[in-house]
Amino acid sequence: MNSPTHSLLALALLSKKGHTKRNWAIFIGSFIPDIAIYIWAPYQKFVNGVSGSEMWGKLYFEAPMQNLIAYFNSFPIYGALAIIGYLGKAKTWGKLLFIFSLAALIHLATDMPVHGHDAYRHFWPISDWRFYSPLSYYETDLHGQWVGLVEMFIAFISIFVLWKRFPKLWAKVVLGILAALYVLMQLAFRLAAIHIGS
Ligand SMILES: [Zn+2]
Repeated sequence: MNSPTHSLLALALLSKKGHTKRNWAIFIGSFIPDIAIYIWAPYQKFVNGVSGSEMWGKLYFEAPMQNLIAYFNSFPIYGALAIIGYLGKAKTWGKLLFIFSLAALIHLATDMPVHGHDAYRHFWPISDWRFYSPLSYYETDLHGQWVGLVEMFIAFISIFVLWKRFPKLWAKVVLGILAALYVLMQLAFRLAAIHIGS
């Protein structure tokens, strides 16, 4: 799924009003599996001057990037961290580590069913197995247009839950912007699909 959906879903499921540290741990945990991509892509573009097609068509599928993705999207690693956090749950660090790992595990659990040609090694370092899903959150040959709608539905429910939970103005501004972005993203996606189809 797209990064914001992961964060919205994890926050809707786990956040609590007034628990600032807990909510930050959830946000960081929900985002961290994607962080390698957000550092790698600008680095390739601006430092190495790589073109978009070479980056996403070739380099992305080669060892350095695929290894980084595997490290940051590992069920065994976040699972182990969750257990360590759970064992230390009497202390603040334990609680935060547990909730951080849970948010990351929710991210992986919602990515695995919708990564098709770009399946991840979700069980590294135990196994290099990849689940090549018949569904994709963006690839049109793998029902991306329908998965995208389901994703938007999940995002909107999460936005609704968070809107009610957090009455502060800044929270409502951020949620409102995200809701608008999902609508725009769907429109752009559909227009592009029509364009390619014609
Ligand atoms: Zn992801």
